[in-house]
Amino acid sequence: MLNLPGKASKFSMVSTLIKSLKEILYPRHCLLCREKIPLNDQKDLVCLKCLKEISPHLPPFCRKCGRGLAQEDTAKHTCGECLNARFYFERAWTVCPYQENARELIHQFKYKNKIFLAKPLSELMIDFIRHYHLPLNHCDYLIPIPLSPAKLREREFNQAEVLAKEIAGYFGIQLLSNNLKRVRNTPAQADLDKESRWKNISGAFRITNPDTIKGKTILLLDDVLTTGATASEASRILKNARASAVYVFTLAS
Ligand SMILES: [Zn+2]
Ligand SMILES: [Zn+2]
Repeated sequence: MLNLPGKASKFSMVSTLIKSLKEILYPRHCLLCREKIPLNDQKDLVCLKCLKEISPHLPPFCRKCGRGLAQEDTAKHTCGECLNARFYFERAWTVCPYQENARELIHQFKYKNKIFLAKPLSELMIDFIRHYHLPLNHCDYLIPIPLSPAKLREREFNQAEVLAKEIAGYFGIQLLSNNLKRVRNTPAQADLDKESRWKNISGAFRITNPDTIKGKTILLLDDVLTTGATASEASRILKNARASAVYVFTLAS
């Protein structure tokens, strides 16, 4: 802000006063560390310090799941988890490990109804896309992993769709959220072991309009990737509808 003399400084005194009053009347505390957030630093109720503590995956990335590779895996280009995995998607990218601050924020976003966290969380994803030049311009559609109707009623919003909307808007990609449907309300993947996750998700998705998908490159979007079973099953259905390529992008893994 320009530091203008005379009238303007009177104005800035008033605005400072209003700001301090606001801080007294509505003190804001960081969702994670509970520290009071100065009005200027506010990023939707998470302080900048806590956001900066989210450390992203670093290259080289696993060419299947996108996680940062351990030193011993770099020659194989694939992480230990993915060595024997066969996914229906071409490859996945993911911003950061699903732990600590990232895990807590995603938890608050999804299960504590804090939908306003979509903004800082999608910004982490947008920064990652820009930093690594992910080829979003080659994607025809951005498709969020859908929730079952029962889950959607319970949660009131699909966290993947809310994130996808922000990203699609930023990069100008078409969001397609009513074509891929979840037809089966499967038990939560998080409660299952690795083997059961693949069985649990099988047949959970359906495409309502395959003609739209045919010959298209799709970017599937979700908040978390764990075994990759959900993203792979959705990709299988998209490939059945003759999608030419399916990529996956998640916030955490
Ligand atoms: Zn904080
Ligand atoms: Zn991997």
